[in-house]
Amino acid sequence: MKYVIVGGVAGGATAAARIRRVDEGAEIVLFERGAHISYANCGLPYYIGGVIGERDRLFVQTPEAFGQRFRIDVRTRSEVVAIDTARKVVEVKAAGGRTYTEPYDKLLLSPGASPVRPPLKGIDSTGIFTLRNVADTDRIKEYLRNRRVEHAVVVGGGFIGLEMAENLRHAGVQVAVVEMANQVMGPLDYSMAALVHRHLLQKGVGLYLGQAVEAFEETASGLKVKLRSGLEIETGMVVLSIGVRPETALASAAGLKLGEAKGIWVDEFLQTSAPDVFAVGDAIEFPHPLTGKPWLNFLAGPANRQARIVADNMVFGPKVKYEGAIGTSVAKVFDLTVASTGLPAKRLKQYGMPYLSATIHSSSHAGYYPGASQMTLKVTFSPTDGKLYGGQVVGYDGVDKRVDELALTIKRGGTVYDLMQVEQAYAPPFSSAKDPVAVAGYVAGNILCGKMTPLYWRELRDADLSQVALVDVRTADEFALGHIDGAQNVPLDELRDRLDEIPSGRPVFLYCGVGLRGYLASNILKGNGYADVRNLVGGLKTYEAALAPVPLPETASACAAGPSADACCRPEAADGAARVVRVDACGLQCPGPVLRLKKEMERLQPGGQLEIRATDAGFPRDAESWCRLTGHRFLSQSCEGGTYVVRVAKASACGAEAARTAPAGKGKTFILFSDDLDKALATFVLANGAAATGEKVTIFFTFWGLNAIKKERKPKVGKDLFGRMFGMMLPSSSRKLKLSKMNMGGLGSRMMRHIMDRKGIDSLESLRQQAIDNGVEFIACQMSMDVMGVKREELLDGVTVGGVATYMERADRANVNLFI
Ligand SMILES: Cc1cc2nc3c(=O)[nH]c(=O)nc-3n(C[C@H](O)[C@H](O)[C@H](O)COP(=O)(O)OP(=O)(O)OC[C@H]3O[C@@H](n4cnc5c(N)ncnc54)[C@H](O)[C@@H]3O)c2cc1C
Repeated sequence: MKYVIVGGVAGGATAAARIRRVDEGAEIVLFERGAHISYANCGLPYYIGGVIGERDRLFVQTPEAFGQRFRIDVRTRSEVVAIDTARKVVEVKAAGGRTYTEPYDKLLLSPGASPVRPPLKGIDSTGIFTLRNVADTDRIKEYLRNRRVEHAVVVGGGFIGLEMAENLRHAGVQVAVVEMANQVMGPLDYSMAALVHRHLLQKGVGLYLGQAVEAFEETASGLKVKLRSGLEIETGMVVLSIGVRPETALASAAGLKLGEAKGIWVDEFLQTSAPDVFAVGDAIEFPHPLTGKPWLNFLAGPANRQARIVADNMVFGPKVKYEGAIGTSVAKVFDLTVASTGLPAKRLKQYGMPYLSATIHSSSHAGYYPGASQMTLKVTFSPTDGKLYGGQVVGYDGVDKRVDELALTIKRGGTVYDLMQVEQAYAPPFSSAKDPVAVAGYVAGNILCGKMTPLYWRELRDADLSQVALVDVRTADEFALGHIDGAQNVPLDELRDRLDEIPSGRPVFLYCGVGLRGYLASNILKGNGYADVRNLVGGLKTYEAALAPVPLPETASACAAGPSADACCRPEAADGAARVVRVDACGLQCPGPVLRLKKEMERLQPGGQLEIRATDAGFPRDAESWCRLTGHRFLSQSCEGGTYVVRVAKASACGAEAARTAPAGKGKTFILFSDDLDKALATFVLANGAAATGEKVTIFFTFWGLNAIKKERKPKVGKDLFGRMFGMMLPSSSRKLKLSKMNMGGLGSRMMRHIMDRKGIDSLESLRQQAIDNGVEFIACQMSMDVMGVKREELLDGVTVGGVATYMERADRANVNLFI
């Protein structure tokens, strides 16, 4: 039997070797267009970056050694240019241009895929590369060497693009990634990709997201990349990594059927539409096991597995079925490991498949054992039976084994309940007794059975907060470090005693750091009669990551600029003599690291320094805010393999006190004492103007001013006689406010609103909403509320109730204080 194989790398070489292993008498001819066979294309970016030092390491086999070991007729630099399926021959163009025909009994096509090169203006300019094979690699290496490239643009933020970005950085080149989508790593959902964005920025990679390339132009110093948005990037070279297409030209010309996804169509035995012609690898399409829809898989694992199956089917007849691949992939992106399997939420949405999802933040191994790092894991699943649809994992350590467990469960048709039954080997250096995969299963199970009603980050982002009670159940310290605007703080441990502060007549949205305390709080509220309680999935950590802006490189933080941005740190204070206490907070979830910081700082002598290592990616920012609040000095931060190292110096007692009480900025405060329509209008106009400068703005509503922040539709509240009397006599909401002059029994204020409307000037209510949206803080005077019998429920959501001290504290930090 004579077997002819087209393509000598992943699929082709593997199939050839397998045929020999199962059929010693077979005649095998392997055609490869390039000069090499069986090379490590997945290793090419690492050779470019110098991580793989020797070029020879890329070659798993030489044509000669491979041919000799398996007795295969390996013909490199030989391109198969045509197939005659009727005569069962292929036409071959050999090196030097000679063509000849070669007959076959069974033919295997494994021609791979080719990089997309869109017909953009200037695409053929010198310095624009794609990466698919050794020849491409050599060209890029040589260009880097000869041109002393300082800056490169990688177009495309898929896994090969990001591997190239990392390796170009290793090679000492500044890198910017241009990506047409609003995120890198297409197989991830946005909230997971956002973790990768943060890491890339920390590593000094510039990100142009949502930006399409329009043209390239050669310049005296290199290239100009022109974006559709009008932006232009000066660079030394470009690596195009915007995807690949299955190599189907040969198959198509031979009349083989192509499928819907434009890959070579094969049946379950990997046989094409022509008798005795088989195909595997990147070139084929195959139904996705979860959707049944045609699917292209550009991955080495499936290509190798298909090769083994097809070899057996070619030798023994159609016996072994291929079950399809679900796109399980893993990539190293600097210190991060990014992995996914199955279908993410966005793909499920596209397919119209109902789904739910759960996101957890966990440690790679027991937090108390040194070196634990953070990991975020998201699963998608069916809302009816919990069938697992997909998994995404982003972290530092142990990501690969988790994604493999998820992939196995999906391929077995398993559910989220099966995740709880995966039996992981456990010891502290490797895992936790509750492994992240099991925890994801528990959370998903709670969502499925209705024990926890999920609130997804997009839902919270788009919610009308005036219609819900948004409750932050973290500690007061955490709340002070930053919270979602409009949230009230009721720490979990005080919740049972402070239930009266949480309105029961509308939905309650809970959130905490990562989702756990929110879940516990939701149980308490539900147990106390609250009907509509939802918990933010993935907590503030997911919400903040998903909403974090990705600045364009021009405006990017300083750490995105220099070659040493890897360190991502500010110059450390030259206080070399200070005693440094080192603390390990790795593995602790937020707020663990910042609480630890606080505790250790209390023990430290003034002038002493604390170096704290944590794996919570939000910790450096939290630590910085904490220092601002407390007056201690934030000295530096750096990131070493997923561990964040923060150094802080303790201020003297009076220094810390001074910092706490000194005017810390250029904030503005307004006291709205009046409930005159014109004065309230002036207040909100001024507040919005001040907020636009980015400064902290606070309005303190006292006495009559409270009427400007009353809800139009108020819940029923109990009041004493005086409270009821005040209620009858005072304006019930901002709509009833009068003008300070020319009110004329209400005619004046109606006229004023009418004129404002005609002239396109925002109404009082709209200006007030703008102020809320601009982050202006509304404080209602507790004492005035008591005197006038105004209840908190009658006031707009998001209003903080506070006393004089609260106002004075804000006023102390402001340089403008107005009484209106
Ligand atoms: C830079 C890079 C990094 C990658 N990293 C990963 C990774 O980390 N993980 C992963 O799973 N996958 C990775 N991949 C993808 C993986 O390499 C492919 O999925 C896999 O190689 C596909 O195998 P294949 O046999 O279909 O095609 P290939 O391995 O590409 O082999 C096809 C071969 O066929 C030859 N050929 C084509 N047409 C003809 C013809 N008419 N006549 C003769 N020869 C022909 C080509 O020259 C080529 O050598 C990476 C790919 C690249 C380029």
